[in-house]
Formats: sequence, C-alpha cells, structure tokens
Amino acid sequence: MLATQVQRRTAALENKSSPTWTAQAIMALYELPFMDLLLKAQAIHRLYHQPNAVQLSSLLSIKTGACPEDCSYCPQSSRYDTGLKPEALMPLKQGLETCVTLGMLKQGQEPACTP
Ligand code: SF4
Repeated sequence: MLATQVQRRTAALENKSSPTWTAQAIMALYELPFMDLLLKAQAIHRLYHQPNAVQLSSLLSIKTGACPEDCSYCPQSSRYDTGLKPEALMPLKQGLETCVTLGMLKQGQEPACTP
C-alpha cells in the first residue's frame, strides 16, 4: 500500500498536480524504519536532482538575541533565559565582509537581499 502511495505521490509531482495523501498513508510513511525512509527519499531525490550534488547553504546571524518577539522555539527571543549573550546588529560592511569570508558572496557581489 505504501509503495502505491509513493508512486501516486511521485506521479502527482511529475504531473505538477496536487498530490493527495490519506492519513493512513502518512502514518505508514511516518512509521517506516529509518533506512527504508532514507531509501525512498533517495529514490525521489534522484528523480528531480543530480544524484550526488548537494546544495550548500549558510546562515549568518547579524543580530543575536534580544528579539522582542515571542516565538517559543527560538532562543533569540528576549522572553526566555537561554544563556545566550545578546549581540548588537552587525554593521553592514562587517556583514558583507563576513559573507565573503564564508563564501556566501563573491568579492564585490551584491547580496540578494536589501539591507
Ligand atoms: S524566530 Fe526568533 S528571531 Fe525570529 S522573530 Fe521569532 S523570536 Fe525573533
């Protein structure tokens, strides 16, 4: 049954139509042994991506801690004592230089976001 659901899901993705999942199929997928899940994920990954290519992503925190919001999962919120030492907003020039150092930007390249 699970194989059928995965095939339907794959077919739906290939047809760019909206896939339909049943709660039973989701539970069956959720309860798969990890290596079986890994195998299925790898098979689907290979349908759409270069098999051995990995996209590398980096995050740079330009302001750490003292956030006035209350997202309960986030240690940046000032409402929780996480032991995190707040740091002021990183100056733009330092942020850009750090991005170049980390390989996130090439020297002289404009960032994709606006300051
Ligand atoms: S996710 Fe963290 S940093 Fe972002 S708004 Fe919520 S508390 Fe602030």
